Amino acid sequence: MTALRAIVTGGASGIGLATATLLAERGYRVATLDLHTGVPAPLLGLRCDVSDDASVRAAVAEAASAFGGLDVVVNNAGIGAQGTVEENDDAEWARVFDVNVQGIVRVSRAALPHLRESAHAAIVNTCSIAATAGLPRRALYSATKGAVLSLTLAMAADHLREGIRVNCVNPGTADTPWVQRLLDAADDPDAERAALEGRQPSGRLVTADEIAHAIAYLAGPDASATTGVALAVDGGMQGLRLPK
Ligand code: NAD
Repeated sequence: MTALRAIVTGGASGIGLATATLLAERGYRVATLDLHTGVPAPLLGLRCDVSDDASVRAAVAEAASAFGGLDVVVNNAGIGAQGTVEENDDAEWARVFDVNVQGIVRVSRAALPHLRESAHAAIVNTCSIAATAGLPRRALYSATKGAVLSLTLAMAADHLREGIRVNCVNPGTADTPWVQRLLDAADDPDAERAALEGRQPSGRLVTADEIAHAIAYLAGPDASATTGVALAVDGGMQGLRLPK
């Protein structure tokens, strides 16, 4: 098989960088679409703001042109938000939805014509356990991830007959620069990390690499019969109820 060609949004950090790196190790040609372009070779770092349609169309076109087409889209770029519905105003709701949800719509819309030309087309969205768990002070973030889950299922239905699979991963709390920033902002980062780890049935955070392996599976030909699923990568957080 000739090398598969992938784009990974939010590919300059954390889960996205781990995924882009893993796909490249497996022989894919990979472009990262991110606000930041500093990614190691052989990744092609393209500047892209998923909340800006012109920026998305330009970056997707550039990746498709550089690789002679596209097979895989990993919609991973996302931003967080803390608070209850009283604590985030309309502008904040619009800003986070624009990246976490409409970012996926924009990138997918730009990439679909290329995916239709591929014999191994797949889209994988990075969702979150927040889509289905009631997490305190995460109303806005959870609502965006609930929308990502619904969007994944609807897109899987729309594009199945075109040979394009669409799935998502639902990571639990993962040890990425994002979570490190939250820990750094805490009064006692070590105690906060211990508290986060204590909430995981596995007793530890998920690694970016573990999530990357799940994304790479869903993106690749090994998952050829799998579409419209949300794969939990959460150390048992969603499914297990262990005695304390
Ligand atoms: P991260 O902050 O380490 O990386 C996110 C990347 O997205 C950054 O490189 C950033 O520049 C990029 N990005 C942000 N806004 C963008 C935009 N408008 N356009 C293009 N790129 C943009 O975060 P991470 O922890 O690796 O998270 C990646 C994804 O995983 C997000 O969708 C997040 O919601 C999801 N997730 C993370 C966790 C976790 O605990 N870390 C858990 C569940 C889901």
